[in-house]
Amino acid sequence: MIEKSKVSILGATGIVGQNYIQLLQNHPWFEIIDVAASPNSAGKSYEEAVKAKWQMPIPIPEDLKNLIVRDVLDFDSIPSNISFLFSAIKMPTKNQIKEIELKYAKKGIPVISNNSAHRWTPDVPMIIGEINHSHVNVIPIQQKNRGFSRGFVAVKPNCTLQSYLTAIYALEKAGYKIDKLIITTLGAISGAGYPGVPSLDIIDNVIPYIDGEEEKTEKEPLKILGSVEENGIINNDTMKISATCTRVPVVDGHMASVHMKFKDKAPNKDEIIKIWSDFKSEPQKLRLPFAPKRPIIYLENENRPQPKKDRDNDKGMALTIGRLRKDNVFDFKFVSLSHNTIRGAAGGSILTAELLKARNFII
Ligand code: NAP
Repeated sequence: MIEKSKVSILGATGIVGQNYIQLLQNHPWFEIIDVAASPNSAGKSYEEAVKAKWQMPIPIPEDLKNLIVRDVLDFDSIPSNISFLFSAIKMPTKNQIKEIELKYAKKGIPVISNNSAHRWTPDVPMIIGEINHSHVNVIPIQQKNRGFSRGFVAVKPNCTLQSYLTAIYALEKAGYKIDKLIITTLGAISGAGYPGVPSLDIIDNVIPYIDGEEEKTEKEPLKILGSVEENGIINNDTMKISATCTRVPVVDGHMASVHMKFKDKAPNKDEIIKIWSDFKSEPQKLRLPFAPKRPIIYLENENRPQPKKDRDNDKGMALTIGRLRKDNVFDFKFVSLSHNTIRGAAGGSILTAELLKARNFII
């Protein structure tokens, strides 16, 4: 048996933090030994700090109930045997999050973050394991630029774009370059964290605006599809994306309606479904514990995917697609779905951590 990496969760009391607690139960490589949150929670037992807002379908794990929650800003109290940490904190400003994550990295601790603060830092990789696993190669550049020894920051992209981007990448990888995408997303309420959107605003309603979401959905793919150069990652801005992001009364599972136009020759419907169904990448080759066996699942039934029925496919790590059909304006359109707090947040970051461990960036 290999010794498990010892892990800390910053923001362990929040929605994403709770998902880490749930998903890392019995993880074969990782073990949580430290939890941290705001000064409101600091000093309390994890159970006391989280019990009033616990949202997971399992009880608070027995072995974590009595861990004393650290203040995220108390850098020196992190256990010295931590291998790496997951960051899922909310702070008043992005700069505060940036500073906190860099400070932990400077202490020699790899940081894998859900926050958007460092997504545009050129020497920080923004990883979806099935797409840009090679971007881990920017980590030595980051460590050299900043004088870090073992520490670094790696981030996970926005949850919304994960409901469609792997499908687009699979087509590009098969040689069918995409020219334009028009996307409308239907975002779940858990995407806003806890307590999130007030019930009177979201029940019986659709909110046609989520602050910052459209910009992230349109721009983050350009970095993810970019390449590692001498000083960092250079974006690939050959694809034009236009997004409308809405919030709908669904608890978990971000859905997207996607219209796509190819640059040159478009594949036919059967070819597209075959490309998606056959698609596998590095996490599957490396047999990483959180890698979905089939990263893209296509459902023929015309009333699927649905959040309630399909968000948990392959432990919440698969992208589920349906309704691929010809488009009268572009070439094709389809509907896709992914679990926002699993694939789009904690689960996606755990997969990144597994990739980084397999590549010896974390111990
Ligand atoms: P959340 O439920 O509001 O949780 C926020 C966490 O941050 C809590 O642990 C909270 O601790 C902590 N926190 C708040 N103020 C703090 C402070 N001043 N100092 C230190 N810690 C503080 O939010 P969430 O949905 O889990 O989101 C966390 C991060 O992940 C955000 O950056 C979010 O954008 C990102 N994200 C979320 C999703 C999603 O689907 N929810 C998806 C992708 C990315 P207390 O409990 O002590 O207040």
